[in-house]
Amino acid sequence: MNIHEYQGKAILSRFGVSVPGGVVIDNAEDAEKAALEIQEKTGASCWVVKAQIHAGGRGKGGGVKLARSLEEVRKQAQNILGMQLITPQTGPEGKKVHKVMIQQDIYYPGSNPVRELYMSILLNRSAGRNIVMYSTEGGMDIETVAEKTPHLIFKEEINPAVGIQPFQARKIAFNLGLEGKAFKEMTRFVTALYSAYIASDASLFEINPLVKTSDDFIFAADAKVNLDDNAFFRHPDYEALRDLNEEDPTETEASRNNLNFVKLNGNVGCMVNGAGLAMATMDIIKLSGGEPANFLDVGGTANAQTVEAGFRIILRDPAVKAILINIFGGIVRCDRVAQGVVDAYKSLGSVRVPVIVRLQGTNAREAKTLIDNSGLKVYSAISLQDAADLVKQNV
Ligand code: GDP
Ligand code: MN
Repeated sequence: MNIHEYQGKAILSRFGVSVPGGVVIDNAEDAEKAALEIQEKTGASCWVVKAQIHAGGRGKGGGVKLARSLEEVRKQAQNILGMQLITPQTGPEGKKVHKVMIQQDIYYPGSNPVRELYMSILLNRSAGRNIVMYSTEGGMDIETVAEKTPHLIFKEEINPAVGIQPFQARKIAFNLGLEGKAFKEMTRFVTALYSAYIASDASLFEINPLVKTSDDFIFAADAKVNLDDNAFFRHPDYEALRDLNEEDPTETEASRNNLNFVKLNGNVGCMVNGAGLAMATMDIIKLSGGEPANFLDVGGTANAQTVEAGFRIILRDPAVKAILINIFGGIVRCDRVAQGVVDAYKSLGSVRVPVIVRLQGTNAREAKTLIDNSGLKVYSAISLQDAADLVKQNV
C-alpha cells in the first residue's frame, strides 16, 4: 500500500530517522497556526508548503512552494489546497489535493552548501536481499541518473541475518562524499532508516532528496513509503493510513469482495479463478481477436456473491462487449459456480453483453447442462478452443 509523505515521515521519525518538522492541515485557515507550531519546535522562519497526494514530481507540478512569511504560508496553502495537481506521475487528469503539509525549510543558507542526495531501500528479488541504493545525484529523477550517469548510483546489499553493519554505513557515507559531522550523521541516518524499513514491514523507502544541510545535519526532505500488504496482520494501525481519495473506487470495491482486479483498456471482460489461469485467459482473448478489459482473479472460493460482484465491476466499463468466465473446478465444483453465474445474472436483472462461460474440472458436464437449461443468454463451453471461438463470434 502506498501512503502519503506525511504518514511515511511519521513512521520514519518513530524509528529515529531525522525528518524536518511538519504539520498537516486540510484547511488554509490552520496554516499560520501550523507554521508557528513548527517555528516553536525548530526555530524555522521559512517554510515549505507541500501537497499531499500519492504521486511524485509534485515540485515540478507546482505542488511544493517555499514561503518566507506567515502570510505566504497561508497564501500558498490556499493556492495548493483543492487544486488539481498535475505531475509527470498523475496522468493528464491530475489529482485533487485534499491535504498540505507545512514543513520547516531545511534549505536555509549557511557557511556550507546544502546538498541533495538520494537514498532508497528496496528488495533485490534476484539476490533475495534488501539493498540500500544511494547516489550523490539527489533531487532529480533517479531514472534519469540511472540512464545518463549509472556510475553515480551505488548499491549496498544487506545480509538479513545480521542487518546493516557499521562498516556498510561508513562506506555509504564515504561514497556520498561526506566528512566530519555530516559523515557521522549519515551513518546514524542510514542505520536508523534500515531498522525502520525492517520493523515497519515496508516494501520501498525512497528518500529523494536526502538533504545535507549547511550545518551538516542529514534530513529526509521527501519520503515515498510503500508498505507490504502481506504484513498488515502485524500492523493493525496501518488500515487507518489508507486514503480512499487516492484509490480507484472500482479496485477498492473489488478488494472489499476479495477479488484481485486490475482495470485494462480492452473490450472483453474476464473473470477467472487463479492468477495463472487469468493470465492464460487474457492470452486467449487476444488470440481470438479481442483485448482484455481487465484482469480479475476471483480466487479459489468463488461463489454466487463473488461472481455477482465481479459481474457488476466488469459491467461498469462501457467498453466491455463480452464477458468470458473461465473457471477450473478443482476445489470449487463447477456446478456451484454455474449456479452462481445463473443467480448473479438473474439478480442483476439484465446483462447487456453476451456471457461466455467455460467451466472445466469437477462436475463440468452438470454445470454445462445447468447453464444451457437456464434460458439465459449465456454460452457455455468446456474446452478452451470452444470458449475462444465464442469470444471471436461475439466481439
Ligand atoms: P516531489 O517533487 O513530489 O518528489 O517532492 P519533494 O518533496 O521531493 O520536493 C520537490 C522539491 O522541492 C525538492 O527536490 C526540493 O528541491 C524542494 N524542496 C523540498 N523540501 C524543501 C525545503 O525544505 N526547502 C526548500 N527550499 N526546498 C525544498
Ligand atoms: Mn521527491
